[in-house]
Amino acid sequence: MKPGATTSAKSIKAALIAPCGMNCGLCYAYMREEKACPSCFGNDEDKNKSCVQCRIRNCEKRAVGGFKYCFACKDFPCARLKQLDKRYRTKYVMSMLDNLEHIRQFGVREFVRREKTRWACPECGRTLCVHKVECVSCGYEWRSRT
Ligand code: SF4
Ligand code: SF4
Ligand SMILES: [Zn+2]
Repeated sequence: MKPGATTSAKSIKAALIAPCGMNCGLCYAYMREEKACPSCFGNDEDKNKSCVQCRIRNCEKRAVGGFKYCFACKDFPCARLKQLDKRYRTKYVMSMLDNLEHIRQFGVREFVRREKTRWACPECGRTLCVHKVECVSCGYEWRSRT
């Protein structure tokens, strides 16, 4: 393992998939060992302010509609979600909208199965972090820096 790398024994599960399509199991805030975020559906007391105040998670249309994921919203995909998706596609080679489409079509369990394969480090097999160029467990550089 490279110096500075962290290990995480946490695995991807359905409870970690946020309403916006984010897989919190790949988030650095969730994977880090100190002050780890408990994920979008986790306890707010242990989260950073930006996630507690997230306007997608707290969206009243979701509360009123009583659905879990944004694809069930009549305004899907709303401007907020498209903006988030664009940022992730550009910066982190991941699309929230593609994730949600997959969940809509095949269900969250199948999505979780796909995520486990898709985000397994080719070198050590542990879960990659979407926000990091290197595997947080073994240091393998899985994504280009550009
Ligand atoms: S910081 Fe936000 S995206 Fe990351 S695990 Fe927490 S709730 Fe999920
Ligand atoms: S898709 Fe609908 S529920 Fe989700 S953030 Fe946008 S308006 Fe709210
Ligand atoms: Zn690895």
